Amino acid sequence: MVSRVIPVEDFDLVIFGATGDLAQRKILPSLFRRFHAGQMPEGARVIGAARSAHSPESFRAFVLEGLCEFAQVKGATRADYAAFVTRLDYVTVDARGTEGWERLRALCQRAVTRAFYFSVGPSLFEDLAQRLHLYGLAGAETRIVVEKPFGRDLASAKLLNAALAAHFEERQIYRIDHYLGKETVQNLMAVRFGNMLFEPLWNSQYIDHIQITVAETVGVSGRGEYYNRAGAMRDMVQNHLMQLLCLIAMEPPARFEPDAVRDEKLKVIRALEPVAPQDLVRGQYGPSADTQSYLQDVGASESQTESFIALKAHISNWRWAGTPFYLRTGKRLKHRASEIAVVFKDTPHSIFGEEAGRHRNILSIRLQPNEGIELGVTIKEPGPGGMRLIDVPLDMSFAEALGPEGEAVPDAYERLIMDVIRGNQTLFMRDDEVEAAWRWTDPIVQSWEGCGAAALSYVPGSAGPEEALRLMQRDGRRWREIRE
Ligand code: NAP
Repeated sequence: MVSRVIPVEDFDLVIFGATGDLAQRKILPSLFRRFHAGQMPEGARVIGAARSAHSPESFRAFVLEGLCEFAQVKGATRADYAAFVTRLDYVTVDARGTEGWERLRALCQRAVTRAFYFSVGPSLFEDLAQRLHLYGLAGAETRIVVEKPFGRDLASAKLLNAALAAHFEERQIYRIDHYLGKETVQNLMAVRFGNMLFEPLWNSQYIDHIQITVAETVGVSGRGEYYNRAGAMRDMVQNHLMQLLCLIAMEPPARFEPDAVRDEKLKVIRALEPVAPQDLVRGQYGPSADTQSYLQDVGASESQTESFIALKAHISNWRWAGTPFYLRTGKRLKHRASEIAVVFKDTPHSIFGEEAGRHRNILSIRLQPNEGIELGVTIKEPGPGGMRLIDVPLDMSFAEALGPEGEAVPDAYERLIMDVIRGNQTLFMRDDEVEAAWRWTDPIVQSWEGCGAAALSYVPGSAGPEEALRLMQRDGRRWREIRE
């Protein structure tokens, strides 16, 4: 099946921070892929903006270099890359000063959809919003895209929301959480709300528990300074894992429309119970034979910041009362693997006897690698010799289902950037959603920051601290294997 390309209108997309890591690794390669897929119309233009002194030509050469490394696209020729970069322009701009703004204004005079991507540190968001307004670039139809982190607690998120709201309406603000752009995450909604099969079972009567795992093999080196101030709870749980939890737990929205979906997600966040200290495990990776410890990575002699967290969350509503949500995420774990596992309850009675074995249905939604959905069903072990049961997967791998000959699943940023151009906020976080997530997160973080509680050491390449295993064992359950 070849995925359909839905054309978008002509646009000007200005990327503040165009010389930075995110722009080079994600934003520009995603734009190239959309260009190569035929989705960027003739009148689409991308304007890079940063303090570095580039001419449009040297910026194009810089981008080409990055594309060679980060945007290997099957079937793309040198001519395609060269054609893409002709759509690029560059302005030297200082977000905190006056340099470049008049030139940017002169460049942004076309009557087309206009979006400004803030791919810079969050300390510059307010400066950018102010200057866009000051230089007459914040028209009623202008959109701004802001990256994470969106605040480091409720107070700072509120300040940031207010700073943006001073110049832009909420309908113009696109707070990006790239997890929401993942093909599988959107498919999670399609599976839940496009089939009759699951929704009647989607509640605490039939679901024993839900596990959400986002495991990374990399450490924090390179972003040590930021990470050491944030930790896994702020960096991953408050946003990415929270968004996944919302999509699993929310009620069916009346329509697949921005506010209908976001209203339902907000209700989930508001129904989250505070997390009890005994339902929380924090870890920090130690050294191994060939990797540095967390402390070495962040260049500190002492730190209690967590590079791993596991917790048990409860949602107090009719659908989910009694069904725990176990969340864990960490760095330097055994594999890079993200999965949501919906673990159904045992059958009430086994007609085959205990010797046949007891099995559970598990719906596994894999976000990376190999995005796909797998439903574990129980069947009879083939062959003579009685009735023994085994689990087999009904596998729906998107790479095979969607792409001709293993064509890559579109990157989350491809989808999300095109949604900005289309003016569709469904997969972006609203101000009240972000604030509600911090309202739940703050007391959890304070529970250890207030008393300086230590993070438990764990072995790199493991599944995190032993205590995280015990968090589930205590409830008679266990984590799923972190698999590649
Ligand atoms: P980065 O590599 O440090 O890049 C920062 C960019 O901002 C550079 O292009 C820099 O260019 C520009 N910049 C800095 N000060 C400026 C100023 N005063 N005026 C204009 N431009 C300025 O950071 P990044 O990793 O790309 O991250 C960008 C944002 O995305 C951050 O908010 C980060 O938290 C978020 N994010 C990044 C990733 C990732 O994988 N990298 C993932 C998720 C979210 P000049 O020095 O030339 O001005």
